[in-house]
Amino acid sequence: MSLYGIDLGGTKIEGAVIDPKRPDRALCRLRVPTESRRGYDHVIGQIVRLVGMLERESGTRRPACIGFGTPGVVDPGTGLMKNSNSLCLNGRRLREDLGAALGVEARTANDANCFALAEALLGAGRGRGVVVGLILGTGCGGGVVVGGRVLEGLHGIAGEWGHNPMRGERTPCYCGHAGCVETVISGTALERYYRERTGRDLRLPEIVVRAASGERPARQTLRRLQAKFGEAIAALINIVDPDAVVIGGGVGNIGLLYEDATREAVLRHVFNTSVRTEFLRPALGDSAGVFGAAMLSAGSRSEARPGGSPPAPPSRSG
Ligand SMILES: [Zn+2]
Repeated sequence: MSLYGIDLGGTKIEGAVIDPKRPDRALCRLRVPTESRRGYDHVIGQIVRLVGMLERESGTRRPACIGFGTPGVVDPGTGLMKNSNSLCLNGRRLREDLGAALGVEARTANDANCFALAEALLGAGRGRGVVVGLILGTGCGGGVVVGGRVLEGLHGIAGEWGHNPMRGERTPCYCGHAGCVETVISGTALERYYRERTGRDLRLPEIVVRAASGERPARQTLRRLQAKFGEAIAALINIVDPDAVVIGGGVGNIGLLYEDATREAVLRHVFNTSVRTEFLRPALGDSAGVFGAAMLSAGSRSEARPGGSPPAPPSRSG
């Protein structure tokens, strides 16, 4: 039976059909526009249309369970979507509505958790027991994978390191708190830091180029990234102590995060005298979302249920 994964984004919905014996490549990948301004029912309809297209294109039947990567998360307490930037999804029973519209069991996880799951099972973190996947871009998301399973958490927020507080920082965050990691080391925050020092409105890749040529404010911006990333990750290592951290998103492209100096920045804050954690670049590129969604549907349930036995990790070849 093939695996179906759907990555529900703000502008497009991508679907993939994957052979579980060769999970590192898709049998077919298709996309349709989300058109979320046309409302919730239209988005559901687009997904139903996409699943029909995947069946015809791949020559397979939809499986009994389909995995969905979503912006925002289904609150485990209420069953309602929350924290989605596609606002029409918030407050809706997305998981149930998708299941009913498609005649399948729908499993959902937010896009950062899908990224973490895909990189842990098929990508850079393959073979490690505990993997943290970070999306460090315009915002800071993250997911924790233990033994091939994403930790969802009581509130659905496990791995949300971007809203941990940072020492001495006070910038207000959209979440209602201040001084969150996201307000300090997201791409947006680093661009703001540079702008405050120079009056110049540059995108992060340009700031990286200027730092390489020795420009002082650009170098200060990247030094701040390294030091604050070390502090933020030390808090995460103290709790989860992962084997590997895979750093996705635009900021994750910056080479200095993988230098020894970053490990030293972590060491200044972590509760240990050495840091052996691997910091890894993602291996799956923009495929991680849709592959992670498909892997949600593999094996037993992806989330713990009260009284249930712990699910086994999905089997994989190699
Ligand atoms: Zn916040």
